[in-house]
Amino acid sequence: MYYHWNVIGHQKELAQLESDFQTENIPHAYLFVGPEKIGKFRIAKSVAGILQCPSNFCHTCPTCVQIEKKCHPDTIELEDDGESIKIDAVRDIIARLNMTGQSRYKIFLIQNIGRLTDEAGNCLLKTLEEPPGKTLFLFTAGQLKDIMPTVASRMRIVQFRKLQDEVLRAALKEMFADADQDMLNQAVLLSLGRSGKAIQLLRDPEAFQEVRDLYRLIQFLDEKATPANRFVALQEIIQDPQKMRNFLSLLVHYFRQKMFDAPSAAKKYAAIDIISEIHRVMNLASRNINPRLLMENLMLKL
Ligand SMILES: [Zn+2]
Repeated sequence: MYYHWNVIGHQKELAQLESDFQTENIPHAYLFVGPEKIGKFRIAKSVAGILQCPSNFCHTCPTCVQIEKKCHPDTIELEDDGESIKIDAVRDIIARLNMTGQSRYKIFLIQNIGRLTDEAGNCLLKTLEEPPGKTLFLFTAGQLKDIMPTVASRMRIVQFRKLQDEVLRAALKEMFADADQDMLNQAVLLSLGRSGKAIQLLRDPEAFQEVRDLYRLIQFLDEKATPANRFVALQEIIQDPQKMRNFLSLLVHYFRQKMFDAPSAAKKYAAIDIISEIHRVMNLASRNINPRLLMENLMLKL
């Protein structure tokens, strides 16, 4: 890599971005798509640094420091605060675009633009077609399907994927030199290829313990539990949507591992069936279908 990106993995995608910058083939808007906590927003911030810094993204000049601290006058961030992005926020962005700036670019970073209301999306459209001067939008999103196609078609899309275990393990080993091997392996296993999640687990023992407990619960449900005590074990999870999402993604991961390790074709197909069933439940859960009903059905199929 030519620049110091401050990101774990994604070498191919970063090389593509570097090539865009070197050939000055920069669009008005990039959209970084991929699972949460794999570094998309971090990458967007680095892109801002690379394009604004007068000395090759040095990480030390006032421009780099201001961008990092979110106080650079021409680099504006809208972090994901869980709320939707309404039309007033978009109007505010457009007004700031039209003010004269002192930097190389006017850059707007918007995390998770799936949060745009339709009205706000439509308002943004016109600006995306013909943004004034040197404007760059850097958007992130979990899935392409969360975004209005008319909006998505005006961006250059870069797809990011979960990291491979070896890549993640090597990076964590460097970052957490004092952590023991077992902790690192568990963080790799339980973060499901998401570097941000792995770092969070290693920095937050309580969160780490919670995910470990979920994993143990899954092993219990799969190996020892009967349908009746499965429901009992799941009571707590059903009450908490975030916990339920974590549980379901771990469950997919668990059965995917089982599928790879399966000693026979029949067992492999059984694991594949369960995985597609879990995906169906995840989909329904995101549409507010009664979680108890979903989980009870799922548990009968394990
Ligand atoms: Zn700099």
